Amino acid sequence: MLASITCGCSSSTVHDDERPLTTFVRQGTGEAKEFRVLPVGEEQEWLPALWCPSCQKWQPMPPGDEWQRNPALRVCTKTKTALVQKP
Ligand SMILES: [Zn+2]
Repeated sequence: MLASITCGCSSSTVHDDERPLTTFVRQGTGEAKEFRVLPVGEEQEWLPALWCPSCQKWQPMPPGDEWQRNPALRVCTKTKTALVQKP
C-alpha cells in the first residue's frame, strides 16, 4: 500500500535573504552598493543600476520599471553599449 508523502515545500513566501542582490547607485554621491531590499526611508535616494562594460562604471537607471521592459533604455548614454546586470 502506498503511503502518501507530504511535500515539505509549504512556504511560498520569498524571504528577504532569498532575493537576488541588485546594485543601486545613490543619487548625488554616485555611490554604488548592493541591496536585496532598499533601506527603509532611503528608497528615493537609490536608483537601480546596470554595469557598462565599456566605461567600467555603474549607470543609474531612470526611476520606474520602464527600462526593464525597454531594451533601448538599457544602453550606455555615452558609448551605446548594452548594459549588463553584473560586471
Ligand atoms: Zn558606458
